[in-house]
Amino acid sequence: MTVQHIQCKACFAHGEKDVRVEDRELQLGEHDVLVKVERGGICGSDIHYYFHGRAGMSILKNPMVIGHEFAGIVEQAPKDSGLAIGQRVAVNPSQPCNCCPMCLSGKQNQCPTMKFMGSAQFNPHVNGGFSEYIVASVAQCIPYANHVSPKIMAFSEPLAVAIHAVNIAGSLVGKRVLVTGSGPIGCLIMAAALNSGASEIVATDMSERCRELAIEMGASLALDPTDEKAVGQYKENKGYFDVVFEASGAASAVASTVEFTKPTGTVVQVGMGASPVNYPLSLMLVKEINFVGSFRFVHEFETAVKWLESGRINPLPLLSSEFSKEEIVNALEFAADKNKAAKVQVYFD
Ligand SMILES: [Zn+2]
Ligand SMILES: [Zn+2]
Repeated sequence: MTVQHIQCKACFAHGEKDVRVEDRELQLGEHDVLVKVERGGICGSDIHYYFHGRAGMSILKNPMVIGHEFAGIVEQAPKDSGLAIGQRVAVNPSQPCNCCPMCLSGKQNQCPTMKFMGSAQFNPHVNGGFSEYIVASVAQCIPYANHVSPKIMAFSEPLAVAIHAVNIAGSLVGKRVLVTGSGPIGCLIMAAALNSGASEIVATDMSERCRELAIEMGASLALDPTDEKAVGQYKENKGYFDVVFEASGAASAVASTVEFTKPTGTVVQVGMGASPVNYPLSLMLVKEINFVGSFRFVHEFETAVKWLESGRINPLPLLSSEFSKEEIVNALEFAADKNKAAKVQVYFD
């Protein structure tokens, strides 16, 4: 088996406040695809690796290429792959084992040995996509029409997260939906819920800028959750919403979902929270609320690519700013300022 060695530059996280653009050597096997990365979106985990040297339980032990939301162009591909050179592709960062019981039952997002790109969960870490070139499997590369901008397609991963959350909730046709937290994931959930038949979508966020984005992305109304006069009516008569997506991870928001949800309604937890929650357990059980988590995605990645390619969802209102790879530190600093930034992208061409 012949292996090619490819040199390129990539954005490596070394630890707290230490991200550098450095040389990288890739190994390309004969069954692999070489993708020239066009651009990538900065996600919360990338910001955490930069500011804290860790994202949740995943701690940086060695330098790792960050980034798991990205799209590129096929530079080399196996002959029988169906991928032409020059084809634009969205790259699915998931690399499940495909042979464990979870994978075999179609729940690849629960694969215990999932190699998710740009994640320090395992050692050695799995390098991400903030790199001039990356090596991927054929299955990871989802082709899309070359006339569609990679600015749009770099949203495929977070949109897949949003569509997975909608799938976890079940049918939204005719349902009243609340989304707490109007960051990029919350806003993409609103867009996906609107596309999935929700009759009414209310958003909350403490930031006015985020509330404006929520309206642009499909919410019929966006409220400040601390404005009790505005949100209180939705808690009356045992709650108003059929489905609540909690996309902030804020302890107070998690607790509030129980009051907002109708008896026997569903709460989908998407936001990752750090602080302990004072959860109204008794009210939750009395109202028989289904409280369910949603983590990453499975086949929803392909759906996300289709919805973006066809223009069914326009994610561009969420794009706040763009930086070159050399400006990665500025990009991460800017992305962390939630008063200014929703999604920040880095370009590699
Ligand atoms: Zn992400
Ligand atoms: Zn598996």
